[in-house]
Amino acid sequence: MSDSSAKAQTRDRRPLYDLLIIGAGINGAGFARDAAGRGLSVALCEKDDLAQGTSSRSGKLIHGGLRYLEYYEFRLVREALKERSVMLKKAPHIIWPMRFVLPHSPEQRPAWLVRAGLFLYDHLGGKEDLLPGSRGLDLRTCPEGEAIKDEYPRGFEYADCWVDDSRLVVLNALDAARLGARIFTRTACTKATRLADRWEVELTDTESGKITTLAARAVINAAGPWVDKVLKGAFDQGGKDRVKLVKGSHIVLPKRYATANSYLLQNDDKRVIFVNPYEGDKLLVGTTDIVYEGDPDKVAIDQEEIDYLLGVVNRYFKTPYTQDDILTSFSGIRPLFDDSQDNPSAVTRDYVFDVSAANGKAPLLSVFGGKITTYRKLAEHGLEKLAPYFPEMGKTWNETVPLPGGDMPSADFEVFLKGLKRDYPWLEEATITRYARLYGTIARWILGEAKCHEDLGEHLGADLYAVEARYLVEHEWARSAADILERRTKLYLVMSDEEVKRVEAWVAREIDASRGVKAAVGADSMATS
Ligand SMILES: Cc1cc2nc3c(=O)[nH]c(=O)nc-3n(C[C@H](O)[C@H](O)[C@H](O)COP(=O)(O)OP(=O)(O)OC[C@H]3O[C@@H](n4cnc5c(N)ncnc54)[C@H](O)[C@@H]3O)c2cc1C
Repeated sequence: MSDSSAKAQTRDRRPLYDLLIIGAGINGAGFARDAAGRGLSVALCEKDDLAQGTSSRSGKLIHGGLRYLEYYEFRLVREALKERSVMLKKAPHIIWPMRFVLPHSPEQRPAWLVRAGLFLYDHLGGKEDLLPGSRGLDLRTCPEGEAIKDEYPRGFEYADCWVDDSRLVVLNALDAARLGARIFTRTACTKATRLADRWEVELTDTESGKITTLAARAVINAAGPWVDKVLKGAFDQGGKDRVKLVKGSHIVLPKRYATANSYLLQNDDKRVIFVNPYEGDKLLVGTTDIVYEGDPDKVAIDQEEIDYLLGVVNRYFKTPYTQDDILTSFSGIRPLFDDSQDNPSAVTRDYVFDVSAANGKAPLLSVFGGKITTYRKLAEHGLEKLAPYFPEMGKTWNETVPLPGGDMPSADFEVFLKGLKRDYPWLEEATITRYARLYGTIARWILGEAKCHEDLGEHLGADLYAVEARYLVEHEWARSAADILERRTKLYLVMSDEEVKRVEAWVAREIDASRGVKAAVGADSMATS
């Protein structure tokens, strides 16, 4: 905390932060890490769990966005492609390259247009781009064509990256905390009042209802789909909504083709959907684009979306899928900056900031729009806007600094995985790979000196043992089975209802026990900030 903050703190006894960030999706977590690394004292509050909003419900791609070229979003695509290379080095455990096969459907787009788009896509990322360029494919003869109907003999292939979106949020929060930020989950910002030189903010514990107040020199509203709601509610500001809420849904299907590539499928309405290998033997299929006017907390897939997604898949794949094949689904809300476009697919995917202040003090920065891919640049640009209010703030710092677990020698995931397998030869191949992917180098810390399964503690179901679950509760803010099984791992896809209940009971016991320890040593979360 800067000197002036420290003085203010002694004056009114309330914790005074340089920056309060509302919302721990990717943007809030990215801001927290960046700002804490620049020496600001930061508090990040999230009404639910980390990434429980849109940032765990995305298409999970770190991509330039090939289709955005059709809407002339060159700035966004260039920035996103450059970030693709940056992110691949920062977090090689949760981000990896994937090849996308695009069966050519001449009724949708002529071949020359696709080729021109791919040429631009290959070059907009600049010389630093680490991924191979695009190429044409003969789907009648290449293995990637086997699953595709004979009426699509030609295709194209290009590269982009996969990301575990919710873990990206958690890793940013982890690093922010390492750099001194305070992270408050299940804590909603319910009121914010601008004083002469700071904000007075009311935070409500969403489980107990307990209200705490703190003060902050600046506030960032990174509440994603809730950004306007927060402005109207907590900040009591009127005015027109600035985000357009656009629902997107995904379905999970069993994977029935042998190759490792994804498919990008064009539909009659000129939209494209992705079919991506997911969690080993599954496919993640999405997404839809539907203007949404309901409550973002209650978003869910509807029958029309299911029919739409299955329709596109079945148009291209030889072996058809039916609704009975759907293993699960999820929906999210894109908080897009409202640029008055009627077509939800055409609304800009770029981000916009709004900054207001009173007499050059107590700024409020609100974020509209943004992508998982560009969160790091979004945070850098946002902090540039706040720089005049924080002359002591450090410079940009994190482009080459790995995220937690990403500090692998030569950033080579395969070499790291090989070493981990060598050191824990008794762990099943799938489990050790899962640890390496989720936790990177932190996996060694979690597994420690374990020499056999018994050393991992109580078996909670699938390949989850107490040692991993305890790490997630103690270090990654997990407080429920869903936090562990849906956002920090994807074990909900393979666990039975009974196993999920076992995890829920285990987490409740663990949290009770840690509350007991905290009470015994007199610790109190927010008051000690
Ligand atoms: C279907 C779909 C597919 C997508 N695919 C991709 C993709 O492949 N690649 C890509 O780069 N991007 C993708 N995106 C875009 C990307 O997911 C979003 O832009 C991004 O996740 C938004 O992050 P955020 O932090 O702004 O919002 P969120 O993740 O929603 O975070 C906002 C947080 O604020 C919290 N909050 C709200 N009100 C309060 C309050 N009063 N107090 C405290 N906390 C509060 C919420 O609980 C929430 O967790 C996709 C989006 C969708 C919907």
